[in-house]
Amino acid sequence: MLTQPIFDASTKLLQWLEACLPLSCLLCQQGITQGLVCSTCQQDLLQCQHYCLQCGYLLQDPHCQRCGPCSHDPKPVILRHGGLLQPPLNQMIYRLKYDKQALFAPILAQLLYQQLRSQTPTSWPQVLIPTPLHPIKQWQRGFNQASLLALALSKQLSIPVHHSLCKKVKHTPSQTQLSKPQRKQNMQHAFRCQRHDYQRLAIIDDIYTTGSTSLSLAKAITAQACYPDVTIEIWTIARTDLQCSH
Ligand SMILES: [Zn+2]
Ligand SMILES: [Zn+2]
Repeated sequence: MLTQPIFDASTKLLQWLEACLPLSCLLCQQGITQGLVCSTCQQDLLQCQHYCLQCGYLLQDPHCQRCGPCSHDPKPVILRHGGLLQPPLNQMIYRLKYDKQALFAPILAQLLYQQLRSQTPTSWPQVLIPTPLHPIKQWQRGFNQASLLALALSKQLSIPVHHSLCKKVKHTPSQTQLSKPQRKQNMQHAFRCQRHDYQRLAIIDDIYTTGSTSLSLAKAITAQACYPDVTIEIWTIARTDLQCSH
């Protein structure tokens, strides 16, 4: 697993590069004087819209926190995400995940952080839980992108990351070609969690598709909680679609 010093090294390298070389935007290659992404791309990325905290459905009224059906049936799981899985956000996630470009983790975390702040949460979670990979998958990829994102968010929010609270114990096949019921079946009992006394936790992951992974992890965390009233937030960088699930 990559750890904190990689980030420090990346930041120092970036500062050195900024001082020595003309930089170009990581997404459109336009010349920039500082940072990693130009202001135009930054604007494209920022979609400060309001979503139902429970199902993620796009809301028209910025003063509402939940859509109609969810406000009648509130559940202790809250969804938050930085934006939709579309260009350029999807490209940035793929470059982090498949091209192993760790520099994208703090940019994506910053985007999610801005979205979280725009939603003015009533209280922040006590701890961030990166969605664990099965050890075989982690060995194949060489790192866990959710851990990188959680570390970057932790720096922004000053909320600790608990890397070892949960483990993925079931080596599941890739979910990309599976239907929603198949994904749910695939993820059943996939995670094991230690006993804990947290009451408000945030699960961190890159992409929310059907929620089968995050909801299975949330179930394992809730089952091991010392207190009955546990609220789980699911923070993902992007969500695939915003179809209302009702
Ligand atoms: Zn750009
Ligand atoms: Zn809803």
